[in-house]
Amino acid sequence: MNYSDLEYEIFARQFILKEYSEEAITKLKDQKISIIGLGGIGCPLSQYLISSGIKNLTIFDGDKIEKNNLNRQMLYSIDDIGKNKAHISKNKLLKTNPNSNIEAYAKNINENNLNLLYGSSVVIDTTDSWHTSKIINKYCVINSIKYMFSSAVGNHIQVCFFPNKTGEHICLNCLFPNKDDVDLPRCETVGISAIAAGIAGLVTAQKTINLLLNFNNENNILTLINVMMAEINRIKVKNNKDCLLNKY
Ligand SMILES: [Zn+2]
Repeated sequence: MNYSDLEYEIFARQFILKEYSEEAITKLKDQKISIIGLGGIGCPLSQYLISSGIKNLTIFDGDKIEKNNLNRQMLYSIDDIGKNKAHISKNKLLKTNPNSNIEAYAKNINENNLNLLYGSSVVIDTTDSWHTSKIINKYCVINSIKYMFSSAVGNHIQVCFFPNKTGEHICLNCLFPNKDDVDLPRCETVGISAIAAGIAGLVTAQKTINLLLNFNNENNILTLINVMMAEINRIKVKNNKDCLLNKY
């Protein structure tokens, strides 16, 4: 499926950039992105991927919208309280590009429905749940699916992309070999700056476009941002010989 005339008008200012060759545009329209979690990171991330010309998006979130979401989860407004995040997100995103194909699941990803991620060009995990991240990472390693981990707590952001190429094992578990049930700081308990969530979404969107269109090499690169200090670091992640997933 090609972009429609309407879409060429919507994306006109971006598609005139020299990076967006006819080849890059053709590549972009065929990508199928899955975003797990439509919270502080997932909202700007999904909005900016659709705004950047991503046509095929699958989104997952079983949560209902609460008042304490409104300061950073920009797809939702006060009238949406109590409604499902995935359904409201789909409606809002279609208002930017009515010709995009958005599949919305009003459920969280767990051990029993990981197969819904199969066939994704990239799986992006913004769940803020260590247990869920661990099972998504394992599923993507076993099935050689590209996996992006994105998190923000307080004023700090960590985003890392793992290409999961066969024969070159480097994964989230290599980077953070914590137990599945470890009690890490979460936004719910220690708080999150609205700006940090927004920047995390945008940086994750840029890294996704970078790897899809080969704008920049993001393979196994951990991007760390101290939002308050406007400080960004890029660190190359290496294989951890003790990683339990090395055998895959
Ligand atoms: Zn590993």
